[in-house]
Amino acid sequence: MKKDEILGKFRQYLYGLNTYYSEPLPVVRGEGKWLWDADGNRYLDFFGGIVTVSLGHCEPRVVAAIEKQAKTLQHVSTLFPTIPIVELAETLCNLFPGEKPAKAFFTNSGTEAIETAILSARLHTQRTEVIGLRHGYHGRSMLSMSLTAHSGYRLGGVHDPQIRHAVAPYCYRCPYKLEYPKCGVACANDVEEVIKTTTSGRPAAFIAEPIMGVGGFITPPKEYPGIVADIVRRHEGLYIADEVQTGWGRTGGKWFGIEQYGVKPDLVVGAKSLGNGHPIGMTLAKAAVADSFKGSTIATFGGNPVTMAACKAVVDVIVQDRLLDNAAMVGTHFRMRLDGLFEKHALVGEVRGMGLMQGIELVKNRKTKEPAPEATAAVMEAAKERGVIIGKGGLLGNVLRISPPLNVTPDDADQAADVIDAALGAVAKA
Ligand code: PMP
Repeated sequence: MKKDEILGKFRQYLYGLNTYYSEPLPVVRGEGKWLWDADGNRYLDFFGGIVTVSLGHCEPRVVAAIEKQAKTLQHVSTLFPTIPIVELAETLCNLFPGEKPAKAFFTNSGTEAIETAILSARLHTQRTEVIGLRHGYHGRSMLSMSLTAHSGYRLGGVHDPQIRHAVAPYCYRCPYKLEYPKCGVACANDVEEVIKTTTSGRPAAFIAEPIMGVGGFITPPKEYPGIVADIVRRHEGLYIADEVQTGWGRTGGKWFGIEQYGVKPDLVVGAKSLGNGHPIGMTLAKAAVADSFKGSTIATFGGNPVTMAACKAVVDVIVQDRLLDNAAMVGTHFRMRLDGLFEKHALVGEVRGMGLMQGIELVKNRKTKEPAPEATAAVMEAAKERGVIIGKGGLLGNVLRISPPLNVTPDDADQAADVIDAALGAVAKA
C-alpha cells in the first residue's frame, strides 16, 4: 500500500488518535534501531514507539520466542496454568525491587496494570483514597485518567472522586519558586499536606512515576521518593511505583527507576518495553498485598502464553546482552552530548533524565522560561527530515523526549545528538 492510500484510510476509518508531525508518518517496517516509512526512507528510531521498543524492532530472539509459542499454545485464559505464565512470573517476582516475596498479575496494557495495582492497594488496606502527582500520567481508563494530572488527557469529565494530587517534584518549574537543594525538597511535604487536608488521613496508596514520562521526563531530586515513602507509610498507605516508562533498564544500571532512589515500593506497575512492542500489563505486589486480592477477576488475554514468552525473551536478552550496563554507559555519553546542546542553543532550557531516558525542555527565553511548544514540534520535524525520530511531551508540549533502544552504541548516540543539534540550529534560525 502506498503512503497516500494508508493516510487516506487512516483518516477515514480511525478515530481519536494523536499523531506526530504536520503530516502523520506511515511506517511500514522496523529492524533493530531502524524504521522505514512508506516512501522507503530510513530513520534512526530514538523514541521506540512511546518508550516501548527497548531491544530494537523485531528483535530476532523475541520473534523466535513468539513464533515458537504461537505454534505451541496461544490461548487458554488464566483459568488454566501454563508454562509461559509461571516462568515469566517467577522471573519477574525475583526482580521485584520491594520486599520479597512478590506475586504477579498480568494484563494487556499499562492502564490495566494501574487498575490492578490500585485495586490491590484498596483491597489490602480496605481504604479508597489515592494520592498521585500533578503532571503524572497513568492511562486512559476512568480511574487511570483520574490519576493522570494533565488536563489534555483527562477526557470525558467523569472522574474517580477518591483521587488527590500533590505538587510535582518539577525543579525547573518549582511550584514554590525555590531552588534545589536549598528548598529542602519542600515539594515532598505536600504529600503530607494533601493527606492531612484533602483525605480522611487514611490513604490507600501513593502512586508516582520515578521519572514522569508523559509529563516531560520530570526527574525528581534524589531524596524525593524516600521522603514521600516515609510520609505515606506513616499514614499506613502503600507506595506504588509506576514503572511503565522507567522499567526494564531504561534509566541505566538498574531494572527499575525506583531503585535509583533506594526506595522499596509495595507495588510496581510495568508495561510498554517489557514486551518490546507486544501488548503487556504487569502488576507486581509484595505477597501480603497480593494475598488480600480476594474475589473473582479475569483478564481474558492477560498472561496469554504468546505474550508471556515474548516478555520472558525480552528479559533474557537484557540479561544476556548486559543491557542495563549498556544503557548506563551509552546514557552517560549521550547526556554529555545533550548537555553540550544546552551550552550551544538558547532554546534549550533544561536537559534532564537518567540513562537512556533523556528530555530537553525548550523555552523561548531562559530567564522567563516561557515554553516553546511550536519550536519543539519544529525540532521534531527537522530531526525527522534529517533521519531521526524523537518524541515530545510535557504539560505544555515543549519537552523533547528521547528514549532509544537499550542496545544503541555511542556512535548511534552521536548520530542522534548531531541531528538534534542541527535541528535546533535550523529551528532557531527560522
Ligand atoms: N503509566 C505510564 C507512566 C505511562 O507512560 C503509560 C502510557 N503512556 C501508562 C501508564 C498507560 O499505559 P497504556 O498506554 O499501555 O495503557
